[in-house]
Amino acid sequence: MAQAGIHALLGLAVRKWTPARTWLMLGILLGNLLPDTDNLAVAVAVVAKLPTEGLHRTFTHSLFTVIVVIAVFYLVQLIAKRPQWGNLGLGLGIGILMHILLDLLIWFKGVAILWPLPLWLNFWSGVAPPVWWDKLMLPAEFLFFALFFVALDVLARKQKTDGGYRRTLRVWTIIQAALFVIFTVLVYIMSKGFMTIYGALYLLSLGLAIGVILRMRRTVEFAA
Ligand SMILES: [Zn+2]
Repeated sequence: MAQAGIHALLGLAVRKWTPARTWLMLGILLGNLLPDTDNLAVAVAVVAKLPTEGLHRTFTHSLFTVIVVIAVFYLVQLIAKRPQWGNLGLGLGIGILMHILLDLLIWFKGVAILWPLPLWLNFWSGVAPPVWWDKLMLPAEFLFFALFFVALDVLARKQKTDGGYRRTLRVWTIIQAALFVIFTVLVYIMSKGFMTIYGALYLLSLGLAIGVILRMRRTVEFAA
């Protein structure tokens, strides 16, 4: 994973080229974020004292998953006779694909791009970032959630959408910024237990970002 917030910002960035179809842009944004919810499986495995190998950057980061998601939602569209389900599936597929590409480009670890086939693609094999950098990347998750929320707020102000929610969004932004500051200190001074408390707050924040996108879908999908 690159930071989840970077994935979300990239999703927002393609908005101006995305045709205004119901749930398409919503799907693209969610698709950019959802692959890293596999960290939830990692967390469950850690708590249950089970091995965590093969859980992260595998089943949610595979080209096969992209195809399956698009196909399943296309079927739903046919059954429900509502085209937005197909749009949502296409958007999710595009978003997941963008997520995989970004992970390959700017992360230092491999992606099981053809899971369940055991092929790990890593453009960065042999490159080991310094430890301080690895550490800083953890609290940076909160920084990029905050920046993503700011971008949504700017968009909502410009379009005059979700006016009633912007105050709440700003509270979440401040909380994420505060978490960034707090955990940037903690990651360098805590020797034990950091990953537990950090991991829990990271997963909550990821869930929050997904919730915010759903809540602000009018802003996300606004077409002038
Ligand atoms: Zn990822």
